[in-house]
Amino acid sequence: MVLDDLGSSLRGSLDKLRGKSRISEEDVDEIVKEIQRSLISADVEISLVQELSDNIKERAMEEEPPAGTPARDFVLRIVYEELVELIGDSTELPLEEQTILLAGLQGSGKTTSAAKMAWWFSTKGLRPAVIQTDTFRPGAYDQAKEMAERAEVDFYGNPDNDDPVEIARNGLEETSDADVHIVDTAGRHALEDDLIDEIEEIEDVVEPDTSLLVLDAAIGQGAKDQAQQFDESIGIDGVVITKLDGTAKGGGALTAVDQTDSSIAFLGTGEEVQDVERFEPDGFISRLLGMGDLSQLAERVERAMQQTEIEEDDWDPEDMLQGQFTLNDMQKQMEAMNNMGPLDQVMDMIPGFGGGIKDQLPDDAMDVTQERMRKFSVIMDSMTEAEKEYPKAIGASQIERIARGSGTDEEDVRELLQQYKMMEKTIKQFQGMGSEQEMQRMMK
Ligand code: GDP
Repeated sequence: MVLDDLGSSLRGSLDKLRGKSRISEEDVDEIVKEIQRSLISADVEISLVQELSDNIKERAMEEEPPAGTPARDFVLRIVYEELVELIGDSTELPLEEQTILLAGLQGSGKTTSAAKMAWWFSTKGLRPAVIQTDTFRPGAYDQAKEMAERAEVDFYGNPDNDDPVEIARNGLEETSDADVHIVDTAGRHALEDDLIDEIEEIEDVVEPDTSLLVLDAAIGQGAKDQAQQFDESIGIDGVVITKLDGTAKGGGALTAVDQTDSSIAFLGTGEEVQDVERFEPDGFISRLLGMGDLSQLAERVERAMQQTEIEEDDWDPEDMLQGQFTLNDMQKQMEAMNNMGPLDQVMDMIPGFGGGIKDQLPDDAMDVTQERMRKFSVIMDSMTEAEKEYPKAIGASQIERIARGSGTDEEDVRELLQQYKMMEKTIKQFQGMGSEQEMQRMMK
């Protein structure tokens, strides 16, 4: 994935800010250096890197953090916002009738992306058609036809015609029942004048609503010239980044986005027609920083803060994953979670916790209803501090005393301890995953 190690290196330097309320210039310098290092190793162009890091540095030093905001959260938010600014919004693609033209060098993944995008539009209830105009590459027709079949979308191509402009024109006529037309074009090894002439002629005929440049994520600095030339000839509205499953780079694509003043439309993550994602900047950057869906999580935490009396510093969902888990933690977190929404939804927003892992948990681990929480709270009020810190030491006689003190049944106290055990086990399980590689291995 693009800038893959930005998240982990950045988290390392951000963690040094934990507990601090003010940031020194050295702190900011260190963070900015980490960001520069990862962006450069992901092939992001140097002037872009400079611009981004200057902005982060300036804001971190000059802006006043809102009262009570820990330094770490403050800097993280600036980094996040500046990355959103750099990468920009997703290319606008309304779910309606339209024509999309694909451009790019040979091997960049145009034909594959055409079928993938058609499949994606079909999942949105539209009827897409792929039109294959590549008369240059042997096998392009068969490949496109086969992929369109796999995607279960309409297809037009003509292996007996060597005029791509005519194929494009006929293709639009022949697939007039479809509402989204995706026109694939020929790529050459490098940009050649006749390729540019050809794609301009095709553009005249198909009059696309959107022209997308398809780029292999591994492309480095070459992206800039390519993007510029295609932009000058047909105008580039957005970029499709392919082969993200195979590289940790992808910075070249960011350069292309910047060069064409466009945005990212789709991400390709494999060879199958379903291996495609519509680009979502917020989620993408949060994932990039290894922080789950940060914007949503931040919003929820804020809402929860307003509704509970828990101090902001006391509650950080990531803390749940570190250190000893006590009944006091459980109580605090149950209260906060109660205001944040169901635990399983919160889990979804914490990096590495979505999907598969969560499904492996016992249902009960997530089932902390409001009713039960209220009862648990009453029970905990009858416990001593030592019991809350070391719940494992609670024996039969204490259970009897706690039940009496809180006016509940012994059964209720046992249920609370059971719940605690389950949550503790769950959290241990996550802690045990340790490093990110380990986590990824388990997810696979
Ligand atoms: P075109 O010449 O631009 O039409 O490129 P193709 O669509 O033929 O893709 C070139 C090669 O890259 C093919 O072998 C594809 O299977 C492969 N490819 C395309 N997109 C992806 C992707 O997102 N991930 C991976 N792993 N391979 C891809």
